[in-house]
Amino acid sequence: MAHRRTFLQRIAALPLIGGFAGKGSAAPVVSKPRDVIRELGVRTFINAAGTYTALTSSLMPAEVMEAMTAASKHFVSLHEMQDKVGERIATLLGAEAAMVTSGAAGALTIGTAACLTGTNAKAIQQLPDLTGLKSEVLIQKSHRYGYDHAVRATGIRMVEIETVEEFEKAVNPAKSAMMLFFNDAEPKGRIDAAGWVALGRKHGIPTFNDASADVPPVTNLTKYTKMGFDLVTFSGGKGICGPQSAGMLAGRKDLIQAARLNTAPYSDSLARGMKVNKEDMAGMLVALELYTQRDHEAQWKDWESRVKTIVTAVSNVPTVETSVLIPAIANHTQHLSIRWDQSRIKISPPDVMKKLREGQPSIEACPMTNSDQLVFTVWMMQPGEDAIVARRVREILSA
Ligand SMILES: *Cc1c(COP(=O)(O)O)cnc(C)c1O
Repeated sequence: MAHRRTFLQRIAALPLIGGFAGKGSAAPVVSKPRDVIRELGVRTFINAAGTYTALTSSLMPAEVMEAMTAASKHFVSLHEMQDKVGERIATLLGAEAAMVTSGAAGALTIGTAACLTGTNAKAIQQLPDLTGLKSEVLIQKSHRYGYDHAVRATGIRMVEIETVEEFEKAVNPAKSAMMLFFNDAEPKGRIDAAGWVALGRKHGIPTFNDASADVPPVTNLTKYTKMGFDLVTFSGGKGICGPQSAGMLAGRKDLIQAARLNTAPYSDSLARGMKVNKEDMAGMLVALELYTQRDHEAQWKDWESRVKTIVTAVSNVPTVETSVLIPAIANHTQHLSIRWDQSRIKISPPDVMKKLREGQPSIEACPMTNSDQLVFTVWMMQPGEDAIVARRVREILSA
């Protein structure tokens, strides 16, 4: 008790913490937030690349950060936070249920785990040991991709098929736990999204669509749940501009419940390490709300005008040709390709990319840049940055 009193007295004797930072000055000093990126000298740049994880993907609108800061000021039950945020997100995604995950990759892992364990406590504790459980995920060969590692992390084996006939031979009621669909690969596969759902329904196997990078268009947010996929995931920090470490898993109520049991705050779970904090949950919800309310047509026109700024700047540089490609599914936004006669302008696109990076301000071009073309996207640029990029590219190509 004596100890506690001394402590309280000491606290009382302290000046208002942070209120009077200036030595000997009576005037309160408004403290500036620390800028750690600046302090450490970490390079910042104009993002003319796109939503690349290693380039920190997207910037959160101020409202998102404010919601996260507000959330940071209270203790809450993490379960209750996930319940309530999940309900709102489910409504916006047109799903029965939803939750915030540690990115779309986290959603792939716990969504698969949910299909393997349901709400069976023993099975949940046992993962990634699949003894006595189903152990296979069906996938079209052309849908295999790097992120399926997050699905394999549960211990399952991928069973590759190409045609419906092959599917019917490979499907096994005792072993098939889930059917994974990589949304961006739809045009490459023999079985389309609706066909995949129909096969899942026929055999009673849950279907999971990874549509992580597939907004815009905003209509995709509800399209795949409506189509009948049992689970769908979107990244939080890509086109939706939420927290980069957040994502969403939406779908059947029983599966979302099972997914939650396979991750934090449950300690004895496969994905305990894929924790989501309350700030990310708050930020994810607000980012999604802002995204759904945005004037998408106006934004598209704004992106077009940014592309035009760059095109106009380089169009009269001799031999330069530009074209715009809009991928049909993932990263559905303008990709500006710039080509030139490299026997006349003697610099390669990767070398232009390097010069842009080393310039002031630094600019990151799209990693799709190769020896034939320099590529930019404009959707992650901040207002006015298109003009800076336009001027720098023109300078480099005219030199
Ligand atoms: C980006 C991406 C992921 C991973 O998303 P995170 O939110 O970074 O975890 C998974 N699948 C696809 C297809 C992606 O494009």
